[in-house]
Amino acid sequence: MMPDRGSEQILLVDDNPTNLQVLFKTLEGSGYRLLAARDGEAALYTAKRARPALILLDVMMPGMDGFEVCEHLKADPETADIAVIFLSALTDSQSKVHGLAIGGVDYIAKPFQTDEVLARVRTHIKIQRLERALARRNTELEDENQQILNAVEEGIVGLDLAGRVTSMNAQASAITGWATADCVGELFSKLNLFAGDEALNQSLALLCEGGVGLRKEHVSISARTGQILPVALMGSPRAEGGAVLVLRDISEWLQNQFALEQAREEMDTQRQHLAHIERLSTGGEMAAGIAHEVNQPLTAVTNYSRVAQRLLLDLPEDRRQKMEEVLSKIIIQAERAAAVIQRMRSYVKKPSGGREVLNINEVLEDVLALAEVDSRVNAIPVHLNAGENLPPIFADEVQLQQVALNLIRNAMESTSNAEHSNPVEVSTYLQGGMVCFKVKDFGAGLAPEIEEQLFSPFVTSKEGGMGIGLSVSKSIMQGHGGDIRFQANPEGGAIFSCEFPVHH
Ligand code: ADP
Repeated sequence: MMPDRGSEQILLVDDNPTNLQVLFKTLEGSGYRLLAARDGEAALYTAKRARPALILLDVMMPGMDGFEVCEHLKADPETADIAVIFLSALTDSQSKVHGLAIGGVDYIAKPFQTDEVLARVRTHIKIQRLERALARRNTELEDENQQILNAVEEGIVGLDLAGRVTSMNAQASAITGWATADCVGELFSKLNLFAGDEALNQSLALLCEGGVGLRKEHVSISARTGQILPVALMGSPRAEGGAVLVLRDISEWLQNQFALEQAREEMDTQRQHLAHIERLSTGGEMAAGIAHEVNQPLTAVTNYSRVAQRLLLDLPEDRRQKMEEVLSKIIIQAERAAAVIQRMRSYVKKPSGGREVLNINEVLEDVLALAEVDSRVNAIPVHLNAGENLPPIFADEVQLQQVALNLIRNAMESTSNAEHSNPVEVSTYLQGGMVCFKVKDFGAGLAPEIEEQLFSPFVTSKEGGMGIGLSVSKSIMQGHGGDIRFQANPEGGAIFSCEFPVHH
């Protein structure tokens, strides 16, 4: 407990008992508690034990003189704040200056006036009291500050103008592995946290000298243990010079991010898997049409070959040209057959090549070529109304082909079930900032029980249908940041429209 106001202790030091007595008399009744010492050693001992507010210190004493006592007092943190007033017959200004230089607060010449001593003691006791209160409040504030700093999750490091560490909270110690006590007063760059990052070290130095704040989402720091840690770093300049650095350990966040990325990749693989299965199934269905279509050119190949054989038997000169014509027809037909098979193979087997910048019209022209076989077998034409000057899209060509082919085949099937042969209309256009294509048929339209869950897997009205075409299409379109929608054709039939974001 601090002594009450007015009951501060004053230590009187003089080797002369008469002088001591006079001092006693002078201060008696002034409300202060008085202690006395007759030499330097005794003065230091009492000062340390009692921590008086003030010492009236005689300069000229045998053994340790007053100046020496003062120096000892000031060198010891426990007694450094005690106010020292020198009392001396030495009145030359040099000793006064010396006394003040080594930490004394005042100098009273002997013989002294009672009033003067009292007035000066009062003043210095008052100052001392205020100083002690201020120091206490400062410590309290510092403690409070430290508590706040230690409570936050971020590591906080204070730097001065020269880039030296002025403070460091517990979290900063935990992140960097450096004890606060080892860092305060040291150059921050000595901790070598951003070892190889010269640019960053440079920006930090600039920041301390009054530069602009900096913010890094992800930097690696090498902790004292040698461990490399990912942190987010923020540096702000301080009004009084120097900077405050905030470090946040982002290892956990990165791990979550990594897990999320993996989950996304897994989903993508699954999506591609499903899309591939669906292509295989569509491919199987298309096989019958292909067999039929390939058969015709192959029959022609056989026939022409026979003719060629006959022509070969009698090799008259004038027939040689005819023979060449026949042979070139063979080649054309064989190539046609090969092309049909090639298209089919590449559709089924080609793995997704990833996304690229595409022109939607070009992709749909290819799809129409693929659908040509079905179109001819069913005698249902497919028309493309290609919109002009459409911006490019960023898409996976194989997946886009798959969506379009599925819609066109569904449309042809529905048209043929309705027993008419209105063409299927495919058109491309720009709407609401999205690149779109739609497939419109004049078939029977959708059964109401199907419409509700049209895009759910395994919903089918067909006997051998898998019912995954539309659900896969939806997943592909959404995976591209777009969508697919159904709407009834007012003239009877169905319209499916797909939209893609424009690629900039
Ligand atoms: P699947 O064709 O194997 O049945 P889809 O997912 O492609 O699988 O289609 C699901 C169902 O949606 C079809 O069985 C059919 O009932 C309906 N459907 C799809 N497209 C059309 C269309 N253009 N006209 C009428 N019904 C359609």
